Amino acid sequence: MAGVSSFDVADKQLAECAEILRLDPGVHAMLRHPMREIHVSLPVRMDDGTTRVFTGCRIQYNDAKGPTKGGIRFHPDKTIDAMRAQAAWMTWKCALLDLPLGGAGGGIMCNPKEMSRGELERLSRAYIDSIIDFIGPEKDIPAPDIYTDPQVMAWMMDEYFKIFRQSQFGVITGKPLAIGGSVGRADAAARGGMYTIREAAKICGVDLARSRVAVQGFGNAGYFASLLSVSLFGAKVVAVSDSRGGIMNPAGLDPEAVRKYKAMTGSVVGLPGTEPISNEQLLELDVDILIPAAIENVITDVNAPRLKTRILAELANGPTTPEADAILHKKGIHHIPDFLCNAGGVTVSYFEMVQNAYMYHWDKEMVHERLDKKMTASYHAVLDASKRFNINLRKAAYVVAVTRVVEAMRIRGRI
Ligand code: GLU
Repeated sequence: MAGVSSFDVADKQLAECAEILRLDPGVHAMLRHPMREIHVSLPVRMDDGTTRVFTGCRIQYNDAKGPTKGGIRFHPDKTIDAMRAQAAWMTWKCALLDLPLGGAGGGIMCNPKEMSRGELERLSRAYIDSIIDFIGPEKDIPAPDIYTDPQVMAWMMDEYFKIFRQSQFGVITGKPLAIGGSVGRADAAARGGMYTIREAAKICGVDLARSRVAVQGFGNAGYFASLLSVSLFGAKVVAVSDSRGGIMNPAGLDPEAVRKYKAMTGSVVGLPGTEPISNEQLLELDVDILIPAAIENVITDVNAPRLKTRILAELANGPTTPEADAILHKKGIHHIPDFLCNAGGVTVSYFEMVQNAYMYHWDKEMVHERLDKKMTASYHAVLDASKRFNINLRKAAYVVAVTRVVEAMRIRGRI
C-alpha cells in the first residue's frame, strides 16, 4: 500500500520485541541498522545499442549467526526501504529457523518484463561484477526473490566462477538442478508454509480436509500454495488472485487449470467457470485459511476488522501492518507471521549450500523430511514463546529470533 514504509514496519516490530525482552538500548540500536549497504551503478548495453545505467544494492544486515543470506529482486519500484526491511526480516528468519546464517537482501531497480533475455543476462552479470568483493559462500549468499529465478541465479553463478576461475557452487542458491541446485527448492516456501498451517490447524481444530482456502497472489508461492493445499490437505481453494483481480469458485478451483490459464492469458481473471472478485474482497472471504502470497501492507487497520479467516498464513513478506496485527490478535485469528511461514525457501537454500559443500545430492524425500522437521520445530518454538509471554505469534517469533541473534553477538564479544 502506498505510503507505508516496510522498513518502518520492521523497525516498529523490532521495537515491540526490544520492549518485551527489555533489550539494552545500545543493543537495540545495533539491531535497528544494517551492518553494511553496497550501492552500485550498473551500465548495461541494451539491444538497440544504447547504454542504460541501472541502480542496484546489496544490504548485509547482521552476520552474528553466520554469513549473510537473502534474495535479489528485480523490480522497477522496489525501493531501498523495502530492501532494508527484506534484509532485516532475513536476519530474523534465519535465526528463527536456527540456520547458521545472518540476513541480507538486495536487488536492482529495473523492469524485467520490458527487457530481453540478453539484457537481463548482461544486467545479472554486471551486478555480480560490482558486488563480487562482498559475496561468497562464506560471506554473503544471494538467492532468488521477486522476479528473479533459477536462470538469473545461473548467470550470476557463472559470472562469479569466471572471475575466480573456481567452481564454488555455494556462492548462490536457488540454482537450476543441472548446476548444483537442490530438489525441492522450487516449492519450498509454499511447502514450508503448509507444514506450519498443518500444525496451526491442530491447535485451532480446523479439519484441513474440509477447509476452504483463499490465496492472494498467484505467482510462484501462491501457485504452489494452492496446489499443495489440494494435494497435501485435500482442501478446497475457493479463490485466488493476481495484480489484475481475482476469481472465485465455492466448489473449488483446479490450481493446475488456473496456472495454465494464467500462462496463456497473463492473468487468472476470466477463467471459465469462475466468478470475478477483487483483491480486497478476497481478503475478506469467509474461509478457514487465508494466504497472502503477493505484496506488502495489504492487511491494514482498515480491512483487518473485516477479515473472517480462522488461520492467516503470511507467505508474502510484510503483508500486514502492525496496527492490523493488533486487531487480528484481538479477533482471535491464528496468525502465522511471514518470517516463520515463508521460511521454507531459505531453509532449502541452506540445504542446497550443505549439499554443495559436500558435493552430494539428497533426494526429494530427504529434503521434504528435513524441511518439515525444521518448520515444525520453529512453529512450536514460536507457539511456546507466545504462551510464555502472552503475545501474538509475530511478537513471539521476534522474541525467539532476536534472542538468538543477541546471544550470538554476545558470545562473539560484540556487545
Ligand atoms: N527470497 C527468499 C526469502 O525471502 C529466499 C532467500 C534465500 O533463499 O536466501 O526467504
